[in-house]
Formats: sequence, C-alpha cells, structure tokens
Amino acid sequence: MSISGKTAVITGSNSGIGLGVAEELAKQGADIVLNSFSDNPEDHDLAKKIAGEHNVKAIYIKADMSAGDECRALVNKAKEQMGRVDILINNAGIQHVAPIEDFPAETWDRIIAINMTSAFHTTAAALPIMREQGWGRVVNIASAHGLTASPYKSAYVTAKHGVVGMSKTVALETAEDPITCNAICPGYVLTPLVEAQIPDTMKQYGKDRETVIRDVLLARQPSKQFATVEQIGGTVAYLCSPAADQVTGTTISVDGGWTAL
Ligand code: NAD
Repeated sequence: MSISGKTAVITGSNSGIGLGVAEELAKQGADIVLNSFSDNPEDHDLAKKIAGEHNVKAIYIKADMSAGDECRALVNKAKEQMGRVDILINNAGIQHVAPIEDFPAETWDRIIAINMTSAFHTTAAALPIMREQGWGRVVNIASAHGLTASPYKSAYVTAKHGVVGMSKTVALETAEDPITCNAICPGYVLTPLVEAQIPDTMKQYGKDRETVIRDVLLARQPSKQFATVEQIGGTVAYLCSPAADQVTGTTISVDGGWTAL
C-alpha cells in the first residue's frame, strides 16, 4: 500500500526539515497540509508550488504550535478541508542557547510548549481520526538531543527527551491498532534553525563560524557532514511504508554516527 492519496499534516513546515518532509511525501503522492504560525502569501504559495509540482492536493493552515487549542484546531481543520488525516509529523521546533542560570524562564516555557507539548495536543486530536480511518502514522521529529545532551540547551534537550518518551507511550497505546508512532532523531541538518544558533555559539565559544561548524556543531557528528532534509524526508517515507508496519515505539537516528560515540 502506497501513501498516494493519504493526507499528511506536518507542523512547522514552511521551512527546513518540515518543508523537506512535505516535499518528499508529496513526491510519493501524499496530499499535504503545511503549517506555521504566520499567514503570509508566501506560506500559501509554498502549498501551491508543492501541489503543482507533484500533482497532489496541498494547503497551508496557520496555527501557532505554542497554543494547545490551535494545535488541536490544525488537525481538525485538516480533516475538514482535506477529508482525512493519515500521517501526522510533529516537527515544529525552536531553539535557544544559554547557560541554565541565564536561561529566560519564558523562553524555557515556549520551547517546552512548541517542541514537546504541541505533539501531545496534535496527537490527541489525530488518533481518533486515524482509528476511525483504520490506519495512521505519527512521526515525531525529535533530535540526537532526544537521546544525549549538550551544554546550554537545557530546554531543547528536555523537550526532545520528552518527545522520545511520548512516542513510546503513544506506540503502546496504539499497539493493537494499525497505527504506529516513532521518533526520528536527526543530528545536525543545515536549516534556518541551525543557522540561527551559529552566532550565539560563536559568542559562547569565542570562535569563528567555520571553526564553530567543524569543532562545535559537527564535533559529535563523526561523519563530519550535515544530514539533509531529503534524508529526513526519506526516513519519514520509510516509516509510512509497509516495511515499517511493525516499527513502533522506537527512535531512528539520522546523525552521522553521533549517538554511536
Ligand atoms: P526551522 O527553523 O527551519 O523550522 C522550524 C519550523 O517550525 C518553521 O517552519 C517554523 O515556522 C516552525 N515554527 C516555529 N515556531 C512555531 C510555532 N509557534 N507554531 C508553528 N510553527 C512554528 O528548523 P528545522 O531545523 O527545520 O527544525 C525542524 C525540527 O527539526 C525541529 O523540531 C528541530 O528541533 C528538529 N531538529 C532539527 C535539527 C537540525 O539540525 N536542523 C536537528 C535535530 C532536530
């Protein structure tokens, strides 16, 4: 069974990994719901571009993943507008880099809300729809930081470990249904999120950009290469394929060997 004709909702997908995953799933024939917190013509243009290039349906729905009711509304609107929700990719995420004693409390709350709690709300809204339809795939984009830690990223590491735990719990709660839930744990992927943390990391370590990329960002990525959004998209597609029907409650690392160290 292919994913052609299935509908995938991807949170935080007007950029980076989310957009890459959307493009990969569209390439395989899935209809796409893009999302972010903005509502610009460019956001809707992205959906039109995906629809045109891959001959699928694609829409953009604005919803702020820091607000629980908007997370649930995203899933319900997707069902209303597309007729079904088969694949949920919890991808929206933000980062902030600071020692814990200087970490602003409101930034901590925001990271926990967007990177972790949003997946609770969207999953809770999506599972009844998936059960009724008789098939579902939940894929949480966690991180190598869902399995290991780095200094100055307390909120992010906490949220991503939480997402890994939530993925296992949801897998157990859906184990007897034709639904799976897994987490993908990417190492560094060169997206706007990573670009944005380079200046802070340069300040933190007092090093230039190239040195920060080689010695700090990729220090723990033994391949010394960034993973790509296409590789993350391909891993999602695998988790949505029949080969992965019995893959549930686990993590797949796409990290160039980081977590083997
Ligand atoms: P990105 O900044 O390119 O994309 C993040 C997406 O989330 C954007 O579309 C943004 O609009 C959206 N977003 C942010 N706040 C939101 C909100 N309140 N409501 C709705 N959408 C919101 O970053 P990325 O690197 O593509 O990250 C995507 C996911 O992958 C994140 O969860 C991140 O933690 C994870 N990840 C990234 C890397 C990496 O190296 N880039 C590694 C591991 C995990």
